[in-house]
Amino acid sequence: MRKLALHWKILIGMAVGAALGIAAIIGGFGDFIQDWIKPFGTIFINLLKLIAVPLILVSLIDGISNLTDLSKLSRIGGKTIGLYILSTVMAISIGLILVNLVEPGNFLPSETREELRLKYASDANLKMETATSVGESGPLQILVDVVPDNIFGAFTNNANMLQVIFFAFLFGIAMVMTPQVKALPVKKFFDGANAIILKIVELVMLAAPLGVLALLAGLIVDVAGDDPAGAIDLFKALGVYSLTVLAGLVIMIFIFYPTLITIFTSIKYREFFKGIFPAQMLAFSTSSSAATLPVTMDRVEKKLGVSEEVSSFVLPLGATINMDGTSIHQAVSAVFIAQAFAHDLTMGDQLTIVLTATLASIGAAAVPSAGLIMLVIVLGAIGVEPEGLALIIAVDRPIDMCRTIVNITGDATVATLVASSEGELRTGLDENRINREEKIAVQPRDEEYPVD
Ligand code: ASP
Repeated sequence: MRKLALHWKILIGMAVGAALGIAAIIGGFGDFIQDWIKPFGTIFINLLKLIAVPLILVSLIDGISNLTDLSKLSRIGGKTIGLYILSTVMAISIGLILVNLVEPGNFLPSETREELRLKYASDANLKMETATSVGESGPLQILVDVVPDNIFGAFTNNANMLQVIFFAFLFGIAMVMTPQVKALPVKKFFDGANAIILKIVELVMLAAPLGVLALLAGLIVDVAGDDPAGAIDLFKALGVYSLTVLAGLVIMIFIFYPTLITIFTSIKYREFFKGIFPAQMLAFSTSSSAATLPVTMDRVEKKLGVSEEVSSFVLPLGATINMDGTSIHQAVSAVFIAQAFAHDLTMGDQLTIVLTATLASIGAAAVPSAGLIMLVIVLGAIGVEPEGLALIIAVDRPIDMCRTIVNITGDATVATLVASSEGELRTGLDENRINREEKIAVQPRDEEYPVD
């Protein structure tokens, strides 16, 4: 029998976990779930938290050090990075507006939210103290906090992820500036370390079906207590949350990108869309921008007419650092979890989300579930318990599939814009030639990337 794909196993894990949780409420064996099932969920969450620091450190250093051509391509580089940051911040803002309007977390009754807060906020007092001290310090404290005075101090706490990112940038940039002979062995080390860490992510994700089962069963028992109606509230809230993320993704694909393409290039959005559709489908089925990259490059060059020089710089960089779909997901999820935990967010918190979600989406590896792991950073920065991931993990895979579509569409949009501004966009490509070229096109090098 053919092996079942991981996402099917996760879906089965979800279904079994949900059934188990509901059965436990009806049959009154909630304690059994708490003692014997839920701990596996906690182990799974711990594994995700465990790899967050090494993942971000290594993948960022590796990504930045690949930009050795930056000086040669400084103009293209500047435009590309500017557009990437602009679209990311735009995506986060759309996400924040939507989630604040819809308030999916408030679909849970207020008693449940209060219970969740007490249950998960074991160190709530500490968080409150931190929050107060942050409130008392000056407006530039947030900048001061980004720069660690001791790198091991930064590594010891997942909430210090911004400091780790700062160090990774410093290290990566210095590496690019160091003469090749000296830097090369280190570069090779980080290349290898990156591959190993991505393998760990892959291994951890193998445990996802069981992790999801345990989390969902535990969560239903936690939320519902002895009341089956509580489980229905939870599903309702999760449904509204998923729709909020989807609405943000749809706005990017059908409003934001078309507007940019129509205003700044000579391509019609319909043609653009048709051109990259196969890449979008691959992104959907692999949940990985990296695995989709060869196809994205192929389509963008051959169907949209972007020059190879532009596409080979803009797209690999974009697959690594530009993730608009992931950004929307970070914003909506962070606020949803905060709402579900009855944690009031100030305007400053929302700004922190913009900053950290931008960095988290830059740091997220282009592989399945990376965005979910990065959420730990955003949650940590606004003082929300990372256990909140348990709330959304069960629905993450389908959302991941959809956000990856937006991730690669954003990259393709920026590649088209940059090429157009450089006069390197050949429109009206000869279909016959394209078809001929497609026949001999190199196959996607999927095996280099962890896909399930
Ligand atoms: N799966 C996404 C990607 O590869 C990253 C994420 O988890 O959001 O683009």
